[in-house]
Amino acid sequence: MSDTLFHKVWNAHAVRTLPSGQTQLFVGLHLVHEVTTPQAFDMLRQHGWRVAFPDRTFATVDHIVPTSTQQRPFLDVMAEEMASALERNCRDAGIPLWAPDNDNQGIVHVIGPELGLTQPGMTIACGDSHTSTHGALGAIAFGIGTSQVRDVLASQCLALDPLKVRRIEVTGSLGRGVYAKDVILTIIRRLGVQGGVGYAYEYGGSTLEAMTIDERMTICNMSIEGGARVGYVNPDDTTFAYLRGRPFAPSGDAFDRAVAWWRQTASDQNAVYDDRVAFDASAIEPTVTWGINPGQSVAVSEPIAAEPNDEALAFMGFRPGARVQGTRIDVAFIGSCTNGRLSDLEEAARIVRGHRVAPHVKALIVPGSRAVRREAEARGLDQVFIDAGFEWRGAGCSMCLGMNPDRLVGNQMSASSSNRNFKGRQGSPTGRTLLMSPAMVAAAAIAGEVVDVREILEGVPA
Ligand code: SF4
Repeated sequence: MSDTLFHKVWNAHAVRTLPSGQTQLFVGLHLVHEVTTPQAFDMLRQHGWRVAFPDRTFATVDHIVPTSTQQRPFLDVMAEEMASALERNCRDAGIPLWAPDNDNQGIVHVIGPELGLTQPGMTIACGDSHTSTHGALGAIAFGIGTSQVRDVLASQCLALDPLKVRRIEVTGSLGRGVYAKDVILTIIRRLGVQGGVGYAYEYGGSTLEAMTIDERMTICNMSIEGGARVGYVNPDDTTFAYLRGRPFAPSGDAFDRAVAWWRQTASDQNAVYDDRVAFDASAIEPTVTWGINPGQSVAVSEPIAAEPNDEALAFMGFRPGARVQGTRIDVAFIGSCTNGRLSDLEEAARIVRGHRVAPHVKALIVPGSRAVRREAEARGLDQVFIDAGFEWRGAGCSMCLGMNPDRLVGNQMSASSSNRNFKGRQGSPTGRTLLMSPAMVAAAAIAGEVVDVREILEGVPA
């Protein structure tokens, strides 16, 4: 019987139906980090339970890591305590941990795919909202809370309600200067930040099929910002080529056998969906948020909505009918699990090469992982950014969340390649965040204000 990837993977991992009506779902891969796990490990200890599958559990340190120096002990006592607790818990449980000084360290949603841990047909859980990122490789990946982290550590299972599946079809070619980030901001704008509640989002269509895995990760990453618990793209030859040769991917004959199975997990041609929506890629423009949730966005050339949300406008300092284009910025941040990958840095470097950051702008480049940083340095991108006046930082979440020393101050306006523009998200209660693509952030850093990256790209060879 034809079916969607979501149902195939769900059914393959269903242990039983619980008396509550929920499904007990086996979790193939559990990714952990320092913020949502200390209490979960404490709860295990209180019950005298052991970690059920340490070989299916992997840990990294990302949210609290300072990016200017990763020297221990961290100056922030609480950050040092969190990192030390994770080190202790992983050592006791036999869980591999990529500590701040390890070559594999990085943001949990960057290193999982990078190391080949994330694979098609898997169920994945992590105590972080943006776990949906891993769906870019055809996994169904759930962001979970601390008590669920405890459940997965103790049993490798989750109790979950089934989801409906919405097929989001994007077709056609993106214009120059329009990126995956613009696609997902446009999807969230149209469907709403609550539009995906109760759904898994399956992204497809010719636009998605032409995208790299990095681009698909940017799309899947922000599914949760549209209310969807899960977002995924069906695995295809692009997926398999990405995984071949990665440290934790199968190798040799096992890789070929895995590909045969991975292919079968993809949604069937005549699969039935609970809902379908379509987008025309050629109509999507560089997009920026103007408000305090990721659905409050406009095309850069467009005035802000006619039916404005007063609270959001007042907080951000915009008037109805105003344009975001031309807004003076104080900070430019390129990084995060949404847009901190090598391809993001390459595109940003193309824009800043030969230019200088505006004197009033503090500009940060924060690679998503140590591997991204190494590869960027091998390609000379670090020097491009440094020459332009950017700060070249170590890997971590940095100013996406501000749980580390990288924070906005006062009501600074930030052009950010991250995923959330909630009040206070970047570390200052009054700090303001404009979400956009890394290329748009790079262009804003140079201009000192929000500009249309397409104008800058006119002078850059394709
Ligand atoms: S980069 Fe931001 S969204 Fe991603 S894991 Fe870190 S804090 Fe969460």
